[in-house]
Amino acid sequence: MDYRRFLREDVGALEEYQPVKPLDVLAEEIGMPVGQLVKLDANENLYGAPAAVYDAIAKADLHIYPDPGQNHLREAIAGYVGHGVTPEQVVGGTGADDLIDLIFRLTMPEKVAVVTPAFGMYSFLAKINRVQPIEVPRLPGTFDLDIDALRDAVDDGARIVFLTSPNNPTGNALLIEQARAVCEMDALVIIDEAYIEFGGESAAPLLAEFSNLVILRTFSKWAGIAGLRVGYALCDPGFAKLMMAIKQPYNVNVAADVAARAAIEHRAEIFETVRALIAERGRMVRLLEGLGWLKALPSASNFVLFRVEGRSAKAVVKGLRQQGVLVRYYPRPDLADYIRISAGRPEDTDRLVAALRQVALR
Ligand code: PMP
Repeated sequence: MDYRRFLREDVGALEEYQPVKPLDVLAEEIGMPVGQLVKLDANENLYGAPAAVYDAIAKADLHIYPDPGQNHLREAIAGYVGHGVTPEQVVGGTGADDLIDLIFRLTMPEKVAVVTPAFGMYSFLAKINRVQPIEVPRLPGTFDLDIDALRDAVDDGARIVFLTSPNNPTGNALLIEQARAVCEMDALVIIDEAYIEFGGESAAPLLAEFSNLVILRTFSKWAGIAGLRVGYALCDPGFAKLMMAIKQPYNVNVAADVAARAAIEHRAEIFETVRALIAERGRMVRLLEGLGWLKALPSASNFVLFRVEGRSAKAVVKGLRQQGVLVRYYPRPDLADYIRISAGRPEDTDRLVAALRQVALR
């Protein structure tokens, strides 16, 4: 029997998600040692996690299954988030990605509104779950939320709304009053705050008022543990209970659990790196705008979207890559002239600037 007979009918229409490539593969492709690559393409914290996080993993009981109820983790996260959030309102996941998938599996709507340009996983996971994504473009130039267009999408049948604040890849954040206006719509409202530690106003105070609001967060960006995959949802306790009921029982593994709790415990140390990254974001903007052909969009995040003027953005990304500097380009019409660059350490910015100067000479 041919396996194709047993596949879902829409399998041909599923697009593969294009994640970033592993460093060793890139190093091989570029012909440079891994240690010489400057990784500014995935918004990781290049300072890494503090020693206390590694110590916690070293001491963990890795031979025992994790707690499916995530009790210690949920309590620690609720304390970290504040705003009156209780552990019953927290659901941990294998990264925020896991929770996006879980929300689709729990709701299974026909259509979802995705405010774009956006993180690609919303549409990707919608399609995997047979949910049709409807793109709601942000306003041209500023990439501000087009609230009327979003309202139209909800009126047209979108039962879930995905929006990100600060947004990836544009960097701009939502005001809490804008978030409130969205929560008043007749839809489940997902506000992805993956980058909230770097700036912007959290919608968390609205959780007490709106049971249709779900906030997504992650330890991947601020805490330096993207490799461990820990994210969480904040929502109504009833909705959280349902998410807990249908998730993979052991979705937050033992190493991830203890590392996330150690990160919370040692957050003062990690926030020093967050502050350094925010400062470096400013320095990067000044240096790159000084080159005369890159224009920064205001960013409340740990990356900046730059408009490339007078040359091809795609060619710039290629030229940087040849020199071992990795940044992000999006092959879509609304971002064709832009590149997204993560904030790194001062030495990363220095390598970036030197490489951009080389690119400009060509
Ligand atoms: N949301 C946004 C907006 C992101 O940019 C990312 C990572 N690029 C994620 C979620 C995924 O986070 P995690 O690593 O926790 O799955």
